[in-house]
Amino acid sequence: MENKTQQMDVIDVSKQKTEEGKQELYLYSLRKMAEDNVEHNRNPLTRLQNLRSFFYMGGEIIREHPGEQYAVISMDIAQFKAVNEFCGRTVGDRLLAAIAEAFRKLEERPLTIASHARADVFVLLTTYREEQELVDMVMQVKKAVDEFPIDCKVLPAFGIATAQGESPAVSYLKDCATTALNTIKGKFYASYAFFDEKMRRQQMLEKQIENNIVAALKNGEFALYIQPKVDMATGQIIGGEALVRWVDPNHGVIPPDEFLPVLEKNGLVIDLDIYMWEQVFQMQSKLLEEGREPVPVSVNVSRVHAFDKGFCDTLCRLSQEYHVAPAYVPLELTESAFLWDEQGMYRQLETLQSRGFTTSMDDFGTGYSSMNMLKNQSMDEIKVDQTFIRDLEVNRKSRIVTRHTIRMLQELETSIIAEGVETEEQKEFLLECGCRKAQGYLFYRPMPWQDFVALQ
Ligand code: C2E
Ligand code: CA
Ligand code: CA
Repeated sequence: MENKTQQMDVIDVSKQKTEEGKQELYLYSLRKMAEDNVEHNRNPLTRLQNLRSFFYMGGEIIREHPGEQYAVISMDIAQFKAVNEFCGRTVGDRLLAAIAEAFRKLEERPLTIASHARADVFVLLTTYREEQELVDMVMQVKKAVDEFPIDCKVLPAFGIATAQGESPAVSYLKDCATTALNTIKGKFYASYAFFDEKMRRQQMLEKQIENNIVAALKNGEFALYIQPKVDMATGQIIGGEALVRWVDPNHGVIPPDEFLPVLEKNGLVIDLDIYMWEQVFQMQSKLLEEGREPVPVSVNVSRVHAFDKGFCDTLCRLSQEYHVAPAYVPLELTESAFLWDEQGMYRQLETLQSRGFTTSMDDFGTGYSSMNMLKNQSMDEIKVDQTFIRDLEVNRKSRIVTRHTIRMLQELETSIIAEGVETEEQKEFLLECGCRKAQGYLFYRPMPWQDFVALQ
């Protein structure tokens, strides 16, 4: 503000007296305002453009030179907060200044603009002919980071998005570059990633999921599939697991691995789970009303419920409303559900068990603390993960680990079920080890619930 007043003061006021002078003054102030804005839009530490101005100026470059091929490079440092904490803010600031310097050098290329978007995030818009040019640019910045004298490990990650087709929006390219960057952030083995077709599809799917999920829940587009669980010694169906399928009218059946991560991010997985639980209670209630004795059908409980203290009440309410005893609907939880609030989660499980629900630890053996959990948990069943079973025939060590895991669980008097059994050999081996229960393609694939009911 002070600056502006000073600048106005130096204008020759005599010019204001004539029409021509007025015009000149007007043009002068416009130019000045634009220059002031450019100053205002720079990051005070690194003097690079801020993001808003980057989008504007980048858009202008593309608009004025539409025939060129454009790319956006985005950079982020894994755990930059730790750099500030361990090495001090001054060193952190110096590192950012060194990175900015590297970006400023790149800005010397034609039709190129760099931005210090925030904290440790930098972006650059540039033209290119060969993708290798973009990799070289990334390596130039990485070299500046690697050569910076500092006592802790600094891991920069770069995402690169190239514009396909004409007139891309700079903000869209930046989002794509960031998506690519996030796939490798914090990983030692990769320093850059290109935004590719797979990511583009995933990004579109995520957007579509976010837009459609609430309507899909209302329209009943989520279908209850059930995969039977069998006693391998007799072939008898002893239970089932409820698995969700999204039957989208436009895209067909979408498997859960594609949409659950999105639902976990926005918390809607809670609504979906409750919907699935209700479907299972409804099905069991129908069978009971018909005078049949249904096998238990387990439901999955997302780890996100760890934040939702109401999930215990919801399950008890459903059991009461549908007059279905909890034993008909066992609960499958992964150990990641215990990560945030282990004690709180144990308490909830104890309550559920005291009401008659049985619990199963899903994906056993894939988490980092599986063994430790065995000492403390009181789960009724352990589901040995597919990764144990997959290479039993070819990997002697895998057989040793599986055999001893089963023996240990037997000694702990915990019920065991093997997941993902696909071959006769796997079945024979598991039976030899004393594991009788299994779920897998060798016996049945997941099927619509009506087919499962017909099987019983
Ligand atoms: P999960 O709970 O471990 O479920 C078992 C997955 O293994 C299912 O995949 C099933 O189709 C697959 N599977 C079963 N037998 C075999 C086999 O022999 N070979 C192979 N390769 N795979 C087999 P699906 O249905 O795609 O579900 C994937 C994951 O999505 C599930 O893993 C579960 O974590 C999650 N999920 C599914 N439905 C729900 C749900 O309603 N709520 C929540 N929170 N998660 C769900
Ligand atoms: Ca499961
Ligand atoms: Ca599993």
